[in-house]
Amino acid sequence: MPGKPKYYLTTPIYYTNGLPHIGHTYSTIVCDTIRRYKRMRGYDVVMTTGTDEHGVNVERAAKNAGVAESEFVAKMADEWKSLWDELGIPSDEFIRTTDLKHAHTVQWLFKLCRENGFVYPGHYTGQYCIYDNAYVDVKPGENCPDCGRPTETVTEANYFFKLSAFQKPLLNWYAKHPEFIQPESRRNEILSFVEGGLRDLSITRTSIRWGIPVPGEEPHVFYVWFDALTAYLSAVGGPNYEKQGYWPADVHIVGKDIIRFHSVYWPAFLMAAGLPLPKQVWAHGWFLMDAAKMSKSKGNVVTPRSIVGVVGMDALRYYLLRETVFGQDGNFSYDALVTRYNSDLANGLGNLASRTAAMIEKNFGGKIPKPAGMQPQDTALATQAQAAIVEVLELYDSLTFSRVLEEIWSLIAATDKYLTSEHPWSLGENDADQQRRATILWTTAEVLRIATALTHAILPESTAKVWTLLGQSGQPGSIALDGLRWGQLAPGMALGKSQALFPRIEKTEAIERMEAMENEPQKPVTAPAAAPASAPTAGGAAAAAAPAASEKIGIEDFAKVEMRVGQIKTAERIVGADKLLKLTVDIGTEIRQICAGIAQFYEPEKLIGRKVAVVVNLAPRKLRGVESNGMIIAATVGPEGRPVLAGFPDEDVEIGARLK
Ligand SMILES: [Zn+2]
Repeated sequence: MPGKPKYYLTTPIYYTNGLPHIGHTYSTIVCDTIRRYKRMRGYDVVMTTGTDEHGVNVERAAKNAGVAESEFVAKMADEWKSLWDELGIPSDEFIRTTDLKHAHTVQWLFKLCRENGFVYPGHYTGQYCIYDNAYVDVKPGENCPDCGRPTETVTEANYFFKLSAFQKPLLNWYAKHPEFIQPESRRNEILSFVEGGLRDLSITRTSIRWGIPVPGEEPHVFYVWFDALTAYLSAVGGPNYEKQGYWPADVHIVGKDIIRFHSVYWPAFLMAAGLPLPKQVWAHGWFLMDAAKMSKSKGNVVTPRSIVGVVGMDALRYYLLRETVFGQDGNFSYDALVTRYNSDLANGLGNLASRTAAMIEKNFGGKIPKPAGMQPQDTALATQAQAAIVEVLELYDSLTFSRVLEEIWSLIAATDKYLTSEHPWSLGENDADQQRRATILWTTAEVLRIATALTHAILPESTAKVWTLLGQSGQPGSIALDGLRWGQLAPGMALGKSQALFPRIEKTEAIERMEAMENEPQKPVTAPAAAPASAPTAGGAAAAAAPAASEKIGIEDFAKVEMRVGQIKTAERIVGADKLLKLTVDIGTEIRQICAGIAQFYEPEKLIGRKVAVVVNLAPRKLRGVESNGMIIAATVGPEGRPVLAGFPDEDVEIGARLK
């Protein structure tokens, strides 16, 4: 689109050794919000995301899955891409580091750096684990942190990047562009890191096979950051970036753990090659779960599908951007998420929109009334709304999303108060009262229109519904925010169809549903991975027969599921979880604690001594904060999904006997 200024932003290029959790989703939601906002400010925006698919971890994961690396990463990339599409945050450019155009860009960047004298051959010496085929970060004589086996000191030929030559140029750059690293705390951290001196960087490997080859220097392949960071450039033209016109990037949005690579290595590579530097690197914090970083090994990961399946994507976006100051760490809590949903979305925006529409429907035949004679209280609200427009645009520009939402929600609260004090529903039917009512409802609808336009970048789905409800044409995404003013709501427009916005939800039940979904097994990523013999239902009880699973599995897949006869020793209810029972189960070799979603159908006392079928090799999970180590098998019966425990009523089976 000629004429429009270009704006280019990126999410991190995510590493494909796992599937997206809330942390990745947060980065991508932030980028999507900026993208939508910038479009409404008249920019031609491109947002890039993608997958980082090389390296020894992928090599290993593919081997474990018994597939070729290319097949493994193709499936992973597909999972990531389709999740973003499903969540309504598709990228404009999805770059895979195994794309040919990316390989060409990396090779071109290397050539430029080398021609300019910033690359030299050398040797890298480190501790190497021959079992894992990888360097590990330990001292000579120490064992491998991954497998615990002895490491060897290995020296291999590498190419080095002269990072040490860029200490001064980088410090000059930071000084001249104080906005380059954000937030301020990260900037200070990077400044002292660079001031402390920079060591040259090994950028190729001969010990890894799965990577982009260094032309004419086989078996050298590019190593980690020289490969991954370059994806931002290959997505928008690579060597032909000038023709596309999006490089340099306006902002790279990253997590705080990778800020150093983005604000030190990446600008140094670009300086060495004589290419323009990105304008800004913005590092956000982590979402912590019970004050700990989410990680697969801790079993405290939250994934977007389980939340979106219960409260919807807009509620997740609202919660993530409202609850945490952008740049700082935040705490993720289901409880706070549902509280925000009910108080701010259901009772706030949703309620204001449906009340206003209902009153206009009832009193003005569903057409926006014409205001007549503004009184001071109407003008006060108009002034607040007009000020909010100016304020909110500034807050968006500084990526202060939590303040954006606070500002808009205080306008919504002021409008609720205005309605209460003006109480248009108790005015009479005479002309003067009807005119007054028209003014009040027009004013309220006008606030809603403005709030909708301002919130659209954050809540795209629900604002589109409010927009239609207000009888506005087109999509709110096409509003030019620069032209947004108080008083543009045209009287006489017919209201559109009313759609459910944010139906109130019952907290305990919503949390249980999200946690139950979180505990369902993720779709297997690689072809021959074990499909569980049965699909677990709420809270860890499983259906003995899975009618939906039509795909056949081999006996070797079935053999991966270890089921044993267990005997229930104790059973108790869990406070705050209506459906869950906490059980201890003797499985012959040990006593396990297992949570089962059977509390509504089984009395705890009656379960003691009962023999049940237990899946014993399921990874431990937490349900409502209680560890569950295994799964009790149950049939799911009837439309309400009543669980019926599988058992052994007629035979005296030994505890611990394996089910085959
Ligand atoms: Zn090892």
